Amino acid sequence: MNSVLAARGLVKTYGDVHALAGVDIDIKAGDVLAVVGPSGSGKTTLLHVLSGILRADGGEVFLDGRAIGELNETGRSALRRTAFGFVFQSGMLVAELTAEENAALPMLLAGGSREESLGAARLWLARLGLQGLEKRLPSQLSGGQAQRVAIARALAHRPRVIFADEPTGALDTRTGQEMMTALLQAAEETGAAVVIVTHDKAIADRALRVVEIQDGRIAQGINTGVSA
Ligand code: ADP
Ligand code: MG
Repeated sequence: MNSVLAARGLVKTYGDVHALAGVDIDIKAGDVLAVVGPSGSGKTTLLHVLSGILRADGGEVFLDGRAIGELNETGRSALRRTAFGFVFQSGMLVAELTAEENAALPMLLAGGSREESLGAARLWLARLGLQGLEKRLPSQLSGGQAQRVAIARALAHRPRVIFADEPTGALDTRTGQEMMTALLQAAEETGAAVVIVTHDKAIADRALRVVEIQDGRIAQGINTGVSA
């Protein structure tokens, strides 16, 4: 029902490991969903299957009601650059590119003009408090600053859903909370939904909903969003 992103019966296996053993989930615009659970429970796999990085072995993911499993690799790759944004642990910025080039990268890869892409990137860097740091390389940024560049990169192309995998994992508590505030504000401004994997209860507490994954299944959810 009006889900931006929905999954039904997701299965992903690696040999005899059932990384995902039948996951249903519904994510609406503006949702902030935290995915928690023990190490190895399938959180990263879930994020990768939801975002089309990995193809499910069973079940289906729907973006705006459209099955993404039907897309070929080129189509899924285009989807990742336009409909989705990604924030990973410790930024994963391209070391040779400046902050503004890193933030503009998804737009450039999607065929945007350099001028327009860098313009949008600079706007988001400024909104995230990084004005004046646009030309710096990742090695010239603090961990918290690098994560803000990663947020700008995830948001500047105005995706429908932002996926974040342990984005505060390499930050101290306070910087992690500040990063979370920046992420949630930016997502709210663009109307993007956020799916955030975290080990940190204080980070999960800031989500609107929490689902716990155990052995590739949703063990417990305050609300998985799935209605009968
Ligand atoms: P989490 O992010 O919750 O720590 P993952 O989704 O990374 O868990 O992994 C879920 C399970 O799938 C684990 O048992 C892990 O060892 C296994 N797994 C993940 N990726 C691979 C892979 N590329 N090859 C083989 N097994 C994998
Ligand atoms: Mg993981």
